[in-house]
Amino acid sequence: MRVNAEGTGDEALMLIGEHPGFEEQQFGRPFVGRVGQELWTAMRRFCKLSRDDFYLTNVLKEPPAKGKTPKPLDVAMALPELLDEIDRVRPKVIVTAGGISTRVLLGPVALANVHGIPHMVEIAGHRCFCLPIYHPASGLGNKGLLAPFAYDLSRLAAFLRGDLPSWQPSTLPAETSWLTRDACNRWAASSDPVIGLDTEGWANKPWGLSFAPDPCHGYVIRADDRAGLAWFRRYLEARRPVLHNGLHDIPVLRAMGIRLTNYDDTQVLAYHDIMRTGSGALESESQNLGTLGYRECGLVLTELTDCAGVDFDTQTIPYTDEVMRYAAMDPITALRLHGVYAGRGLLEYEPYRIDMGQVPLVEQMITHGLPFDYNGALDYYVDVLGKLETATEELKRLAARLGNRQFNPGSHPQVREVITRKIGLRIRKRTKGGLASTNEKALADHKDHPFVEALQTHRELVKLKGTYVEPLLEALQQ
Ligand code: URA
Repeated sequence: MRVNAEGTGDEALMLIGEHPGFEEQQFGRPFVGRVGQELWTAMRRFCKLSRDDFYLTNVLKEPPAKGKTPKPLDVAMALPELLDEIDRVRPKVIVTAGGISTRVLLGPVALANVHGIPHMVEIAGHRCFCLPIYHPASGLGNKGLLAPFAYDLSRLAAFLRGDLPSWQPSTLPAETSWLTRDACNRWAASSDPVIGLDTEGWANKPWGLSFAPDPCHGYVIRADDRAGLAWFRRYLEARRPVLHNGLHDIPVLRAMGIRLTNYDDTQVLAYHDIMRTGSGALESESQNLGTLGYRECGLVLTELTDCAGVDFDTQTIPYTDEVMRYAAMDPITALRLHGVYAGRGLLEYEPYRIDMGQVPLVEQMITHGLPFDYNGALDYYVDVLGKLETATEELKRLAARLGNRQFNPGSHPQVREVITRKIGLRIRKRTKGGLASTNEKALADHKDHPFVEALQTHRELVKLKGTYVEPLLEALQQ
């Protein structure tokens, strides 16, 4: 049965749902059933708004046959009436509930990408804002969607207060190209050390890297361009790269001869941003670059798999301009996102610093083949303990031959005594108290001496055990 829209036509707010449900048909009014109750309770709580504040309508004024999802043809046939309503009411803000009504206004978008964002739109010759929200019914069927729904309403409240900017999404404004010598010269002198960086391909088959020296320009270097990569290595020395999910790129970069010692990661920043603000947008896609680029910067990214000739199954990515343009957008987006998060103070946020501080450590562990499963880590621990025991015995044996039968490798005074008195090595570096230093730097001049060599091995193993292996085991045990 048909359910007409409800409202005086003077409302500044319009709510567009999908189609009336069973209860709506019984009462002949939109959003009065269980879904409506859910909606108005939340609307009151988050936005201090009630149904009287909205012109209430649906894309379809009656449900599709047999309770099915509306087909494109159903929507197309209902569209003229909906456009008439918008033209007549001319609302300032249209809230679209669910994917169907959102796509009527915004085109072929994924609700997961666009929800909670006020978009500037022109519809039926009328300029206004469209703010898509998850449909209140989605939270009834899937509790996991309650948080995004609440998040969307809090965004609506913020937007109505004037605390939230809106945008028209754009695929611009990137100028992208393959790396050329000319381009190198143009911005090699640029003083900003922060650059966006990304890779395409696989560690066993790298395609290339792309980087953005500023938020509008992206350049691509092919994996087979050795001169280009050599130039980039030098260029990187004075830069701080920003990656998105850098752990994925590190092996691909390494395969191209590029090692990172330090970088920022917008995926980790996004994670902390969500955790810190409790923004609720924690659904699975919420930390991928496309989603974040859209949500935070209004950038529309394409998919690599949509480019002609790309086939992941056979690891094929052609060197076409289309792929190049795709590749260059990612570092541009990462760099812009970095600006957004820097503006929110996330770079100084302590958990981010700690997390990112672990990355080189984890990377080293992976490089050295330290396994991450508990039994494997335990085996490794036992192996390290065995080596440490052997190294300790060796040191004690050497010290005993020099006359110290109770040698303790952890005791600096004892080490000093053996090195300076028993062996007679000359140590230039001094401690603050004026004694001969026994640290690594101080012993560097004598690293070939068998006792010093054994001491260094012992120290490395102690460090490995205390700094890496034991904390890892502890972490894995939790
Ligand atoms: N869901 C809708 O989309 N519209 C209604 O009117 C009721 C439930």
